Amino acid sequence: MDKPYKRVLLKLSGEALMGDMDYGIDPNVVETIAAEIAEVIKEEIEIAVVVGAGNIFRGIKGSAAGMDRATADYIGMIATVMNAMTLQDSLERMGVPTRVQTAIAMQEVAEPYIRRRAIRHLEKNRVVIFGAGSGNPFFTTDTTAALRAAEINAEVVFKATKVDGVYDSDPKINPNAKRFRTLTYGYVLQNDLKVMDSTAIALCKDNNIPIMVFDLSVPGNIKRALMGESIGTIVGESCDVS
Ligand code: UDP
Repeated sequence: MDKPYKRVLLKLSGEALMGDMDYGIDPNVVETIAAEIAEVIKEEIEIAVVVGAGNIFRGIKGSAAGMDRATADYIGMIATVMNAMTLQDSLERMGVPTRVQTAIAMQEVAEPYIRRRAIRHLEKNRVVIFGAGSGNPFFTTDTTAALRAAEINAEVVFKATKVDGVYDSDPKINPNAKRFRTLTYGYVLQNDLKVMDSTAIALCKDNNIPIMVFDLSVPGNIKRALMGESIGTIVGESCDVS
């Protein structure tokens, strides 16, 4: 096993919290994710989490239905706070100290995002959950993950997905499809691979932050990934098909 990381950023999409449901939050799934994070925090790895809201509301969908895009995006950002608080609740019930920080102030329920305070929480081994995206419409929580990772000096962004990495072709169609162990940012951008949106990839590239794509649905994978096992695809400076 490679060496474990010291400070990481975990990006959980809204869909990750939805499980097999069509909408909303599956408490059992959140519980499972929280239990894995609780295991990792014992290893003194500092963990920040960015949560999405695709399980509740996406700005782009709202705007396709005729809404003003910026308004729809603000609704999407507010929806992420529900996911953040749900994860917080689960973690705290497991005895893990946490803080939610939001990029849109809502001080009755969470701290405002303050970078230096977030870093202090991490140093005290609290899980910091970033809600309300970046606070800006026209962005995604993937880009927020890249931004916050750069701000807090995280060594890596973990992108939890429903696939076990990035392939050279669609493994559902091509049985000989090969999984990349590592992949360059440039390859992802040029081939428009849906690892994260291009703004997020570019931000990670500019700041030299690797992105590890891994399958969240396999039990134990959060721990494996965060402890430094190479279980998915790492987007960074090199390219290697396994
Ligand atoms: N959003 C935004 N700015 C941000 C982050 C998120 O406007 O910085 C909005 C946007 O409408 C987005 C929604 O919040 O669709 C939910 O985030 P996202 O789609 O990234 O969630 P995920 O796909 O990770 O579940």
